[in-house]
Amino acid sequence: MACNEAWIDSHCHLDAAEFSADLVDVIQRSRTAGVGNWVVPAVSRATFASTRAVARQYGAWPAYGLHPVYVNEHRDADLACLVDWLAREPAVAVGEIGLDGFVPGLDMNRQIAFFEAQLKLARDLDLPVIVHIRRCQDPVLKYLRKWGVKGGIAHAFNGSLQQADAFIRQGFALGFGGALTYSGSLRIRRLAAELPLEYLVLETDSPDMVPAWLAGPPPARNEPSELPRIAACLAELRGISLLELAQSSNAAVRRVLRITEG
Ligand SMILES: [Zn+2]
Repeated sequence: MACNEAWIDSHCHLDAAEFSADLVDVIQRSRTAGVGNWVVPAVSRATFASTRAVARQYGAWPAYGLHPVYVNEHRDADLACLVDWLAREPAVAVGEIGLDGFVPGLDMNRQIAFFEAQLKLARDLDLPVIVHIRRCQDPVLKYLRKWGVKGGIAHAFNGSLQQADAFIRQGFALGFGGALTYSGSLRIRRLAAELPLEYLVLETDSPDMVPAWLAGPPPARNEPSELPRIAACLAELRGISLLELAQSSNAAVRRVLRITEG
């Protein structure tokens, strides 16, 4: 798996409770595996500080946002808190934000209200966004256009080729991770094989989206050190080298999130 380019894990929740006992070891394994940078999106007001702590301690790149799956926990005041937080804390994006039409019991109107408010914030701050999209590709695209958000990452992309094109035209890269390691994931594997390489970014979504070789009864846990092996599946699907994929994915992360450091 060795290659001379250190991978960026473009989406991982290193501040999650699943890592609280051994994050130092997780980071060490990640670096040993050649994964040296991480984009860590917060998911709720309660995780802003833990995300910042991980960013400060390990040099990870933080994003801050209110995740749609937690819409029932978010209070209206959390939006004002996010505005204040982003006014004083460095961030590579507003995220993780979006719309989820899959998980039952999430009020879609309230999700949309939080999503639009955060898109407006991203536009006002001229920040990219990291979007979570489940069964809501076209509505997400509609609101991105409405608020004129300039790019970001469509995390765990699972739309159509046409929807992928629309995200790309909106300045987005498309995130791929553990799902493509399952031989039955025909749609995701086809997308990963056919979409233009320069718009694909690798992510683990740790501790979630465990790759096929870790699948088992809970509590199966994913971690950033798995990224090169996940990437090897994608490289094989496309018939390219791991180095070419690493360079392309890393460049795309830096381009869409406008990261110039490191
Ligand atoms: Zn996530």
